[in-house]
Amino acid sequence: MKIVVTGGAGYVGSVCATVLVEQGHDVVVIDNFTTGNRDAVPAQAQLVEGSVADVIGQVLAQGDVDAVFHFAARSLVGESMEVPEEYWRDNLGQSLALLEAMRIHGVKNLVFSSTAATYGEPATTPITEDFPTAPTNTYGATKLSIDYAITSYCQAHGLAATSLRYFNVAGAYGSVGENRKIETHLIPLILQVATGKREDIKIFGDDWPTPDGTAVRDYIHVRDLADAHVLACETNKPSVHRIFNLGSGDGYSVSQVIEMCREVTGHPIPAEVAPRRAGDPATLIASSDKAMNELGWKPSRTDLRTIVEDAWAFTSQLDN
Ligand code: UDP
Repeated sequence: MKIVVTGGAGYVGSVCATVLVEQGHDVVVIDNFTTGNRDAVPAQAQLVEGSVADVIGQVLAQGDVDAVFHFAARSLVGESMEVPEEYWRDNLGQSLALLEAMRIHGVKNLVFSSTAATYGEPATTPITEDFPTAPTNTYGATKLSIDYAITSYCQAHGLAATSLRYFNVAGAYGSVGENRKIETHLIPLILQVATGKREDIKIFGDDWPTPDGTAVRDYIHVRDLADAHVLACETNKPSVHRIFNLGSGDGYSVSQVIEMCREVTGHPIPAEVAPRRAGDPATLIASSDKAMNELGWKPSRTDLRTIVEDAWAFTSQLDN
């Protein structure tokens, strides 16, 4: 298949583009390198540099595109509260341009990169797809709005689409992993302590209503995530918009993650308790039963040690 991957220089997008290339697909990466890395784009992919809205028309006009994997987005929760206008423009605005281009050029298969942030603060766990959506930040709100637009395009224009709501993506796949200009995520920040780039890791609150008082999250390996995207594309149905949660189904506390990173890296990784971070829920754990039952998704790297080992293999070879 010929597949367009928007945001194919970003973390999840580049891993998916790599896996698609390995599976023999013809991949076109669109990226404007606002946050992505040039090195992360697989050499075998065709690269079109620019914002989605500016270049998608010319890419789809080639006429032989089978599907679009849409990752291009801004994804920092804190930033989304400070400059919401940029998030609405870059997330919703660019996605609407993509949907229009797909409609005009008759490209009818879409896999959309969404997030657990669409649910907001859940009353219970694990989170299933029928939980109320009530995002607590602009990032989640933009992703949820795109879902509404996708549903309309499916109903009115026969689009076949799947939105995948990720929980805490981590790990790496070979030479592609987490390498952002601005890093806010737990595992890469902890590993930066082990490489000497950072003095210590701050634990954002140790008074949460969890077994050890630190926040609990569901970490999913980025390579397992890539499999779900491919399955979604292969099973998309005309006029149907499916939504799946993707996690490993197990919760690990911040302290447990730090401890695992100490074991894997052999570094003491000093940690210091800091105030809670605004907008953080205590516990987020996915139910991925629907994805396993309906997509046939079988995550095989759900063990936290494997996730951290793969992340470390990537991070430890980066230039500091
Ligand atoms: N966290 C932390 N210290 C950090 C970064 C994150 O204690 O330096 C915590 C954060 O409060 C959350 C968990 O680690 O409870 C996972 O945060 P991350 O930003 O990786 O993902 P999120 O769950 O916010 O999507």
